[in-house]
Amino acid sequence: MAAAVREGSVPADHYLNKALEQARAVDRGHEGLNAFLALAKPGGPAPDAPDSGSGRAGETHPTGDGLLAGVPVAVKDNLCTLDLPTTCASRILEGYRSPYEATAVRRLRVAGARLVGKTNMDEFAMGSSTENSAFGPTRNPRDRDRVPGGSSGGSAAAVAAGVVPCALGSDTGGSVRQPAAFCGVVGVKPTYGRVSRYGLVAFASSLDQVGAFGRSVLDAALLLEAVAGYDPRDPTSVRRPVPDLSGGLDEGIRGRVVGLPREYLPDTLAPEVRARYDEAVERLREAGARIREVSLPHTRFAVSTYYVLAPAEASSNLARYDGVRYGGRASEARSTLELYRASRTRGFGPEVVRRIMLGTFGLSAGYHDQYYDRAQKVRALIARDFERVWADGVDLLFTPTAPGPAFRLGERTADPVAMYLSDVFTVTANLAGIPGVSVPMGEVAGGGGDRPPLGGQFLAPPWHEAPMLQAARALEVSYGITGEDT
Ligand code: GLN
Repeated sequence: MAAAVREGSVPADHYLNKALEQARAVDRGHEGLNAFLALAKPGGPAPDAPDSGSGRAGETHPTGDGLLAGVPVAVKDNLCTLDLPTTCASRILEGYRSPYEATAVRRLRVAGARLVGKTNMDEFAMGSSTENSAFGPTRNPRDRDRVPGGSSGGSAAAVAAGVVPCALGSDTGGSVRQPAAFCGVVGVKPTYGRVSRYGLVAFASSLDQVGAFGRSVLDAALLLEAVAGYDPRDPTSVRRPVPDLSGGLDEGIRGRVVGLPREYLPDTLAPEVRARYDEAVERLREAGARIREVSLPHTRFAVSTYYVLAPAEASSNLARYDGVRYGGRASEARSTLELYRASRTRGFGPEVVRRIMLGTFGLSAGYHDQYYDRAQKVRALIARDFERVWADGVDLLFTPTAPGPAFRLGERTADPVAMYLSDVFTVTANLAGIPGVSVPMGEVAGGGGDRPPLGGQFLAPPWHEAPMLQAARALEVSYGITGEDT
């Protein structure tokens, strides 16, 4: 697409208009995907149009010859945009318009990409199925009775349905990798600090990263390359050059040492998942990888650690939604306290309330040493497990992305712990700050004749996105995915 727009063989608006048309066709109605919470207007505004008050004049690519020239991109609704509302799929931010734009979104514009719309998600990115959206769940385009995963389910569904070739999401505990696996697309979470969090609505600041979805590894790599890099507006972004992620993708994995961590392959893993995983490992071996079994002994504490730390940070970050400064306000309240209470009670859904309660408890006087402080120590042990395998000469780790395929809508909504357990293989990367990518890894029998897809996950040392994506590409190619038809 970008090549065609750069050459001038198609007009700059062409793919945007097609994406909008398709989004409308797949999204609405009884069996609609509900992947989008807001759509851009067809045709405009042109990326370089002087948009009064946006302060972005001169920041967009003037000639349309950028890396993503004319490419339609969907953006998760927790990234601040000027043209469209930013709601985090929460009633408390319904209709909220940010006065500034996230750095990742601005960089998209600079690269020439066209924003198609804002995608559905679990409220404030808390969830694993997109069923926690205040605006209704997103359906999985591969099977509309199944969830698309979460929390970036809308972005994953938009890519899987072919509306856009790539989309932005955010990954705090797996929210890009797990929905990518559930929808049969590629999802990459970069190293913590690789992409600016400026303008990404904070959930758990020490874990949050902006991530990229693509129909192929190449599409995800191009998108990540466009948004990555140091940003003085995010003190946790790191001053490091952005490598050429898309250029060297076909270098392969010959000679690379790929570790298979036994803690990610428990005896309880579904036999079909294990079978697809073993087949993928064979493909890696055939592509020249050196396979080695490894151990990351603290993995079993990861979910508990994550579900102490993430809610603790969330309880602090979400204190700002008080009905005064953002979004919905309970106008009938007669005192300040009543205003806070009524606005928050009305504005937050049950999962967000649960996290605020859990997090506040874990941080409270008398308990923080038992919960928060302790979880921080275990987090350090989990990070050290990874450091040890890298020091032992392991280049990459390979695991299943999730314990099973997409589950059915409604199947886990009554059991938060069952929902939390779909994150067992993904939260470790956020706790350790390392990059991860999910790529399609075959299908399993879904019952009723359907074949839901699985994902395989590569994890890499910090800043090693390039070799990680090369490995992902090698696996993708072994399944015959060329990326050409995207
Ligand atoms: N499913 C995890 C949670 O509910 C991760 C969410 C995310 O990565 N944003 O917290």
